[in-house]
Amino acid sequence: MSENIYLDNAATTPIDTDVKEILINLLDVFHNPSQPYSPSSFVKKKINEARKIIADCINASPEEIFFTSGGTESNNTVIYQMLNHKKKKSIIISDIEHHSVINPCKFIKKMGYIVKNINVNSKGYIDSNDFINTIDENTVIASIMYANNEIGTIQNIKKLASIAHEKGILFHTDAVQAVGHLHLDVKELDVDFLSASAHKFNGPKGIGFLYVKKGINFSPLIYGGAQELNMRAGTENAPLIYAMAIALKKNLEILNSSQQHLNELYDLFIKKLKLYKIDFVENSTNDGLPGLVNISINNQNGETLLHRLDLKKIQISTGSACDSVNNQVSHVIKALNVDKRYSEGTIRISFGKENTKEEAIKIADELNNIING
Ligand code: PLP
Repeated sequence: MSENIYLDNAATTPIDTDVKEILINLLDVFHNPSQPYSPSSFVKKKINEARKIIADCINASPEEIFFTSGGTESNNTVIYQMLNHKKKKSIIISDIEHHSVINPCKFIKKMGYIVKNINVNSKGYIDSNDFINTIDENTVIASIMYANNEIGTIQNIKKLASIAHEKGILFHTDAVQAVGHLHLDVKELDVDFLSASAHKFNGPKGIGFLYVKKGINFSPLIYGGAQELNMRAGTENAPLIYAMAIALKKNLEILNSSQQHLNELYDLFIKKLKLYKIDFVENSTNDGLPGLVNISINNQNGETLLHRLDLKKIQISTGSACDSVNNQVSHVIKALNVDKRYSEGTIRISFGKENTKEEAIKIADELNNIING
């Protein structure tokens, strides 16, 4: 196991060792946080502490943080808000959203709602004028991802949110790839909703949160008990919640140095590929998500490269985790209009803060061995 070189951190990250220990220890405190006896108040206290830590990390207030099962649930919660709107019926998303935004949108479309898509340019950026022109009197909300999971493009969310508000619509950002990896301040961004997921920032799986700006009305996706201020029913998983908060805090404490390290790995890897004269298109940019490399290699098959690297104990991806199941050129690569000679040879290497320069060199060497023989 330890010989593996894991380079798929955009799919999920290894759990931080301190976070894992905290999580395991908390599993012993099994009491239901809603009960009035003392062991329960300890659990409740941990949940409140976690809410405060997370709020501080993104400059929110604790009552603006709602715990969910992860990014998918947070995104679904926001998209299904459309169902509360009977007169205005239109939502705007980009062409490169994650399937946890795209698929609930397909569902509401079947129910008569209008989903408007905005294109991106060949580097994955949205043109703010296109955004302005897509908003009309029927639009309720726009959902634009903060950082793309396949190519790492970071959108100008502050600008897009400000346009949305000038035009009187709500703004959501799927920040699942950004939280814990970029400096993020919800007050500065002025978004109405923001989604995050712990397993993308060295926390456990099955836990995330939704930020909802104070004063914004929303309805639950999951109904039942009164947990999360009546907004997300179900007994809280205090160990996961607390572990998520510590994971986020720890990642942000070393944010600048890990960003710098990841940018170095990115540059080193690309430099090596160029040195080996590998013919590729760079779909990612080194001012995108730190350490996320997406390239399309001429006359190659991404899936084959993935399996051949796996035989060498190196784990990469062809795109997002869901598209590697579908085994076809992903909607994101299609949106970039990558030439067909290259697009089928698309791979994503997402370095994590634990990866080393030697590992960045090793993957470039192995790719060279496979491609140039
Ligand atoms: N949004 C983005 C951009 C993602 O990358 C992912 C995970 O791949 C999700 C949403 C879904 O998050 P989760 O796995 O926590 O449901």
